[in-house]
Amino acid sequence: MRVFKFGGASVKDAEAVRNVGKVMGLYPNEEIVVVVSAMGKTTNALEKITKEYMTKEGDLKKSIQELKDYHNDILADLFPDQGHKIYNEVNNVLVELEWIIEDEPIDDFDFEYDQIVSLGEMISTRIVSAWLMESGIENTWVDVRDLIKTDNTYREAVVEWESTESAIKKKLSPVMKGEGSSVVVTQGFVGVTTENYNTTLGREGSDYTASILGSVLGAEDVTIWKDVPGVLNADPKWFEKTKKLEAMSYHDAIELAFFGATVIHPKTLKPLQNNAIPLYVKSFFDPEKEGTLITGVKKLPKELELVPSFIFKVNQVLISILPRDYSFIVEENLSEIFKLFADIGVKINLMQHAALSFSVCVDEDGGKIPDLVEALQKDYKVLYNEDVELVTIRDYDQATIDRVISGKKIYVEQKSRQTARFVVKDVG
Ligand code: ASP
Ligand code: MG
Repeated sequence: MRVFKFGGASVKDAEAVRNVGKVMGLYPNEEIVVVVSAMGKTTNALEKITKEYMTKEGDLKKSIQELKDYHNDILADLFPDQGHKIYNEVNNVLVELEWIIEDEPIDDFDFEYDQIVSLGEMISTRIVSAWLMESGIENTWVDVRDLIKTDNTYREAVVEWESTESAIKKKLSPVMKGEGSSVVVTQGFVGVTTENYNTTLGREGSDYTASILGSVLGAEDVTIWKDVPGVLNADPKWFEKTKKLEAMSYHDAIELAFFGATVIHPKTLKPLQNNAIPLYVKSFFDPEKEGTLITGVKKLPKELELVPSFIFKVNQVLISILPRDYSFIVEENLSEIFKLFADIGVKINLMQHAALSFSVCVDEDGGKIPDLVEALQKDYKVLYNEDVELVTIRDYDQATIDRVISGKKIYVEQKSRQTARFVVKDVG
C-alpha cells in the first residue's frame, strides 16, 4: 500500500491531469491512496473569494465566475461529452459555494475561510477521479471528511488522532483489501470537526494529509509528486544552479523545514518518522527517475557527495534588546522576553545572546512587530534593523559561504558543525 500526493501544480490544467493518469499508469496492480490538492492557484482564488465575502469589498461575483471558468475550461478539455456526470459533480460543489455566500457571514473569518477554501480540493478530486476512470484506472472517490477528524482551530486544525485512526481503518480497509489493485482518490488539506464543519490543516497542508494516511495505514512509502526533480539544495527562485539531493534523513528534512525551506510541510515528517515510513519526493515530469528519498538513516552513505543547501528567509527584522542600566541580560530577563514573544505570537527564527544584549531575527509580516517593540521598550532599550535576510547553509564550506554572502553586510554569524547562519543586508 502506498500513498501518492499530487500538489496544485501537478493538476493545474488539463494536460497536468492527463499526466497524473500517466504516472498512475506506471503502477498497475497496486494499492494506492491518491491525495490531491486544489488545482493550480485555486486556494489563493478561494482565499480572495472569502475576503470579498467577509468584507463586501471587491467583485465577489466576478471572482466566482473566474473560478468556474477555470475549472470548466479544464473539464471541457478533458471531457468533451458535456453529458458526462463529472459536470454535475463539479457543479454541485459550486452550488455549495453559492449557498454559503447567499447567507450573511458569521463574525469568524477563520471559520468561513475553511468552509469556502476547502471546496477547491472537493472539485479537484472529483476531476482527477473521473479522469482516472476515463483512462481505465478504476478508483474510489473518498470524502476525506470521513477520515481526518480535527478540533475546531480553523485554518490550522489539530488532528484528533484516535478518532482519525479508527475512521481511516474503518473506511479505507474495506477498499484497500490487500488484494491487487485498488485506488482511492481523496482530498488533501481538509478535515472535519465533530460538529461536521470543514477545517483546513494550514496552507500546503496536503503533504500532511498524505503523511497521516500513510502512517495510519502503515504504507510501504509516501510519495510527493512535484514539478522539481526532488529536494533541491536551494530554492530555484533564488538560485540558478540547483542540485538535487539523493537522500536525506527525516532529521535533516525537519531541520531544513525549520530553517525555512518550503519543500515539505513541517508537520508532514513526524508521523512518517514515528512509523518509519520512507518519503519520496519525485518529479511528475520524470516519474521514473529516482527523486529524493527521506528516511531514518542517521548517516548517509559515503558515496553521496555532501551538497551544501541554502535556505533564504527574506523580509526579516533583527531586533536587539539591551538593558537600560548596563545590567546583564540574565535568565529572568530572558524568560520575560520569551514570554512577550509567545504572548504576541512572534516566532523567533534565530537568536544570539551576548553580555549586554539579546538579539533575535523574526519575520516582518503580520504587523506584530510594532506591538512587540512597544512592549519590550517598557523595560529595555530596543534597536532594530528592517529588511535583513536570514541565510542558512547546511553542510557548508568556505567557498559557498563566500559566494552566498558576497556584497552583503553581516549582522550576525553563527556556525555549528553542520550549519552556518547569517543575518545579512544587501549593500550591493
Ligand atoms: N491547496 C492547499 C494550498 O494551496 C493545500 C496544499 O496544496 O497543500 O495551500
Ligand atoms: Mg500546494
